[in-house]
Amino acid sequence: MNREPGRTALVTGANRGIGLETVRQLDLAGLDVVLAARDVARGRVAARTLGSRRIRVEELDVTDPTSVAACAQRLADDGVTVDVLVNNAGIYPTGSFFSLDEDTVRRALDVNLMGAFHTCRVFCPGMARRGYGRVVNVSSGLGALTENVPSPAAYGISKAALNALTLVVSAAVPSTVKVNAACPGWVRTDMGGRRAPTGVEEGADTVTWLARLPDLGPTGGFFRNRRRIDW
Ligand code: NAP
Repeated sequence: MNREPGRTALVTGANRGIGLETVRQLDLAGLDVVLAARDVARGRVAARTLGSRRIRVEELDVTDPTSVAACAQRLADDGVTVDVLVNNAGIYPTGSFFSLDEDTVRRALDVNLMGAFHTCRVFCPGMARRGYGRVVNVSSGLGALTENVPSPAAYGISKAALNALTLVVSAAVPSTVKVNAACPGWVRTDMGGRRAPTGVEEGADTVTWLARLPDLGPTGGFFRNRRRIDW
């Protein structure tokens, strides 16, 4: 992998699973990486497993705008600018439409949609000003309208909304900021379970690829295995 010094990436929900693997891959590519986790102690433990000195751990609960703003302020105070934002934090509530309660749907939207809403609002203006930015929203084919938003219902609705947010943000920033969504496939993590066919390395590959797109790379797209897929 070509090393890419001088850029900083922030990955949310990065203390395990695809987020942690994305941190590992971006670090390997030479970026400075902020491993963001809602439980900073768990984030530190996770960072230690990677054994890199370039990784900085920050507390960030994506559902809490105050937490997002505080994280951004700590970084700004230390002169750290976020060039690459990976909105990876997610939850997977199960259940079909008629079995759902309102709280479950709200929680799914809070983490899977509003999390990216808050971080994009805080970090994208700086990217636009500096003339460089990459945003990757870790979505899912389970939110694809062209696949009829397969179940589970709350998860699919939240990822379809995240896909919509991807298009809205990509249109709101200059073309120097590339905003895309990725489907990692069905990946062996706490969320995906042991029967999933894809390992984290492969699952995070498209995320890392979108995080490092060249200046002529795409924006406003949905990708799996580095190929464009339908929304
Ligand atoms: P995972 O192993 O369950 O990890 C989810 C991560 O999100 C954890 O680090 C968790 O932190 C964090 N998180 C949850 N709520 C948060 C919040 N409010 N603020 C900050 N972080 C929060 O899941 P994964 O499989 O790696 O999934 C990562 C992303 O890929 C998700 O967006 C998921 O929807 C998407 N995805 C996964 C698959 C799959 O098959 N695994 C397929 C398609 C899409 P805690 O440890 O503190 O709970």
